[in-house]
Amino acid sequence: MTQKYGNELVLDLFKECDALLQGHFKLTSGMHSEWYFEKIRLIEKPAALEKIVDLLADKIRREVSDFDYVVSPAYGAIAIGFLAALKLGKKFAFTQRADEKMTIRSGFSGLDGSRAVIIEDILTTGGSIQEVLACLRERQVAVAGTYVLVDRSAGAVPIGGKPVGSLLALRVEAFEPNVCPFCAKGMPITKPGASDKRI
Ligand SMILES: [Zn+2]
Repeated sequence: MTQKYGNELVLDLFKECDALLQGHFKLTSGMHSEWYFEKIRLIEKPAALEKIVDLLADKIRREVSDFDYVVSPAYGAIAIGFLAALKLGKKFAFTQRADEKMTIRSGFSGLDGSRAVIIEDILTTGGSIQEVLACLRERQVAVAGTYVLVDRSAGAVPIGGKPVGSLLALRVEAFEPNVCPFCAKGMPITKPGASDKRI
């Protein structure tokens, strides 16, 4: 069973950019699932992404009153965070991995001692967001909030002891093939990434 939170409009926008696929999918783990998230498609259609980011920016505007920067981890979230920063009238910076370690990209001049909102595309285990948080603490940046487009933990993963804001909280259950309800119904299965061909 899949639990859905968030509003239908958000779900429709994700479907509009083909980032959220509903069907019967074989995941790389070999498990089967009703949902598949192709996050690179979020940035493939900027006009569709803009509608999603508008909703995120509205939420941040309502919930966070005072901050200077939006900070996002490279690479997929850069477009999302940048667009949100533009709409919120804030500055933007990003983190990147250098020798495995997450660091603030050098050259951002006003970040030290500022207040920032972290924006990431998808929250699964929260690992990369925790790394961004550690980077910001090193620079004495206060984190005013953490936001993602999709929370795949459905609220189960807090960051810095606080809940993560999301547009869509979606806990996806994966099934072993022998107990998959979609196999039981005889639904054809798709392996994402394999040219989207049915297998
Ligand atoms: Zn199946």
